[in-house]
Amino acid sequence: MSVPVTATLDARPSAPKGLLAQLASIVGGYHVLSDPDLTAGHEVDWTGRFTGPTPVVVRPRNPHEVAAVLRACAQYRVPVIPQGGNTGLVGGGVPRQGEAVLSTTRLTDLEPVDRLSGQVTVGAGATLAAVQRHVREAGYDIAVDLAARDSATIGGMVATNAGGLRVLRWGPMRSQVVGVEAVLADGRVMNRLSGLPKDSSGYDLTQLLVGSEGTLAVITRVRLRLIPLFTDRVTVLLALQDTATALRVLALVRGSVPSLDSAEITYADGVALVHKHLRLPSPFRTPTPYPVHLLLECAAQRDPADDLIEALERSPDLLDSAIATDEPSRRALWAHREGHTDAVNAAGVPLKLDVAVPLEELAAFEQEVRGLTVRHAPGARLVLFGHLAEGNYHVNILDAGDRDEELSEAVLRAVARRGGTISAEHGIGVAKARWLSLTRAAVDLDLAAVTKRAWDPEALLNPGVLFSADPA
Ligand SMILES: Cc1cc2nc3c(=O)[nH]c(=O)nc-3n(C[C@H](O)[C@H](O)[C@H](O)COP(=O)(O)OP(=O)(O)OC[C@H]3O[C@@H](n4cnc5c(N)ncnc54)[C@H](O)[C@@H]3O)c2cc1C
Repeated sequence: MSVPVTATLDARPSAPKGLLAQLASIVGGYHVLSDPDLTAGHEVDWTGRFTGPTPVVVRPRNPHEVAAVLRACAQYRVPVIPQGGNTGLVGGGVPRQGEAVLSTTRLTDLEPVDRLSGQVTVGAGATLAAVQRHVREAGYDIAVDLAARDSATIGGMVATNAGGLRVLRWGPMRSQVVGVEAVLADGRVMNRLSGLPKDSSGYDLTQLLVGSEGTLAVITRVRLRLIPLFTDRVTVLLALQDTATALRVLALVRGSVPSLDSAEITYADGVALVHKHLRLPSPFRTPTPYPVHLLLECAAQRDPADDLIEALERSPDLLDSAIATDEPSRRALWAHREGHTDAVNAAGVPLKLDVAVPLEELAAFEQEVRGLTVRHAPGARLVLFGHLAEGNYHVNILDAGDRDEELSEAVLRAVARRGGTISAEHGIGVAKARWLSLTRAAVDLDLAAVTKRAWDPEALLNPGVLFSADPA
């Protein structure tokens, strides 16, 4: 196990005398949870791999309450874990050794869409799905989408710089955030919500918070850049021989179809797991298990199907294909890709690594990961899938037993050798903090530690995340 469970649920920590009463006076007694039955859901992450006890979960309703809660925790010197939808995959949003959990799930206010600027301000605890519904009613859309949309919060997505399914066209969360409101560990509020598209007045503190994983401040509101709501979509699922072919098809389509929104790659073993878990039939005319599936989706204001088909007709390497233009058939094709995370989790507690390498390295890297898995954990099951255009693989390994640590190290070193990153979109959390120096230079890490000390000198926010050692 690469990250040990730091405390068992039996050895329950208790809050310092007076803290619970003070928190209740801020948010109301119903929103201060200390009964283990009520805190349990906040003490374990989505994968079941990271867990630890908390003396209290507190659920403020607005930024003023967040500020007062943080001041109270600072007064009692109780560290705080900001938690959104708890769909994070690197253990950064759950307690480890008795920290308080600040749940943002009541910070759900949605302000009206600003049609003139094409922006919206939303509470950090609003889920992605709620924000999608809200802005779509106004004819807009949010450019980041991911399978955990019903639970993942906007604040969590900013804090992890989430990527997802449309990065190739629109960039990750970082590209959508035009401003934030955030509360520092000492209760001071930083407000950068004006939404000015141009502002060259010094350091960009908003962007510093993107990807900060709850270590610098608690994000309370976010101003997002919106994109048009596309009316026409076409989705194809292609059966291919190998990763190199998938990259050739991607290059061909990317160069000629500007409406390309998504390019997702999956492999036979993962697809088989999804089919079993969701009881899905083969999407193709013949039920042959093909080595590689490539899902492509285009979105536009006018039917992009002809453009995509024309480009694919020039691709000589397709073994089979399925196409969908109406919503139910599109969703059915997406299920073969989006079902992966659930299917893997249903099969056991996986070792999960979210990495990216330069595209020219991807095919060789895939082979290397397969080899490393066999060598370091014979008998383990490797399930690879990911966002092809960013060279981003989700490496999931089941049944690695006590070889987790060794295998993580080997895969992450391979990533570093090939010029990649040890986290493409899930963040570092506690899961990968010890390996950050593989892909970040000493000067980067020094500056990060100085930044952490400037924002959070008492190290009260999310200890153990990003930094494996105390940044002081
Ligand atoms: C089925 C599934 C599919 C997924 N697909 C993708 C994908 O395609 N792309 C992708 O990028 N991720 C994906 N994820 C991972 C996850 O959904 C994202 O990391 C998401 O951004 C986490 O949001 P959350 O609200 O659940 O955050 P949490 O899990 O609650 O927290 C994540 C981190 O952010 C911090 N945090 C949360 N809220 C705040 C806040 N308001 N202020 C400061 N810090 C905060 C926490 O302390 C923690 O470090 C997937 C997860 C699942 C379960």
